[in-house]
Amino acid sequence: MTEHDELTGTITQGTGGLWHVLTADGVIHEVSLRGRLKKADVGRRADGAIRRDTAATTRQVVKLAVGDRVRLEQDERGHTLAIAEILPRTSRLARRAPGGARGERVLATNLDQVVVVFAAARPEPHPRMLDRFLVIAEANDLPARVVINKVDLVNADAAAERFADYPRAGYPVHFTSAKQGLGMDALRAVLDGRTSVLTGPSGAGKSSLINALFPGLDLRVGEISESVNKGRHTTVGASLHPLPGAGGGFVVDTPGLREVGMWELPVARLDFCFPEIRARRDQCRFADCRHTVEPACAVRLAVEQGEVSSARYDSYLKLSEELTSEKPSW
Ligand code: GDP
Ligand code: ZN
Repeated sequence: MTEHDELTGTITQGTGGLWHVLTADGVIHEVSLRGRLKKADVGRRADGAIRRDTAATTRQVVKLAVGDRVRLEQDERGHTLAIAEILPRTSRLARRAPGGARGERVLATNLDQVVVVFAAARPEPHPRMLDRFLVIAEANDLPARVVINKVDLVNADAAAERFADYPRAGYPVHFTSAKQGLGMDALRAVLDGRTSVLTGPSGAGKSSLINALFPGLDLRVGEISESVNKGRHTTVGASLHPLPGAGGGFVVDTPGLREVGMWELPVARLDFCFPEIRARRDQCRFADCRHTVEPACAVRLAVEQGEVSSARYDSYLKLSEELTSEKPSW
């Protein structure tokens, strides 16, 4: 085998053991995992190329996911390409397996950001729901940004005022109208060259934005999650869509990002999923402060003094209550 036989690519989708791997030449190869990798190699390579995900999953074999960069090789027998190696991951979107199963489910890897799209109106935006999406991003250590679309339907100043909590908490906010072409260049600039998970409620205009920004992609974002996947714990796989144009980058469409409860997030981690609470929790008198009734709570004080948004704090309390009342399944 020569150098030229070696190829690396990106997994764009996978079903039933067959994976689509996009290589630099724009070709999509439909391949499976090389048998040897499936068994012994994973997690044990001397060069550390395949790394175990977390200490909690030490006995688990690393499973391929959409977004993974892989090395392809001709298999020993013939001329069939197969996945020989998973390259190190820079990030991942994973959630704990529901129903008491061990480990977690990796939905996608090598993501740069989560883009949460809401409409300024029609459908009426629910800040509590927006906070949930942001918590999911934070729980996965992924930077998040907010897009408020359909600003053509509202007064611009009123919209900026309404969502002012988000830049205050540290999230970039884009105001767009896919219909009138407002804010599109700025949005394109932050999608270009990056791998972005696009999420948000149905009807917010995700598909309209993507199709206006990248004609030819013809994407129906979140369609699967609406029709097939509603209310189920299992998810239909994610898919990765290369952005046309020189900049590169991908948009990831992954169903099953909606319900924080489904992510089995330990309540103790919720503090770290609100940047404004994360920044203050160390100043609470009690290390295990829940920021509800405890004396000398720095978070409550900041809310009272208007430094932390009371709406965001309400979201925190609501989620905290939800995560506490749900039976832990591990
Ligand atoms: P998705 O479910 O998030 O992918 O939303 P769609 O892109 O399918 O858009 C839902 C509806 O909102 C469609 O009827 C779009 O034409 C409309 N829509 C999308 N963007 C805008 C916008 O910026 N302004 C207005 N007024 N309508 C929009
Ligand atoms: Zn506190």
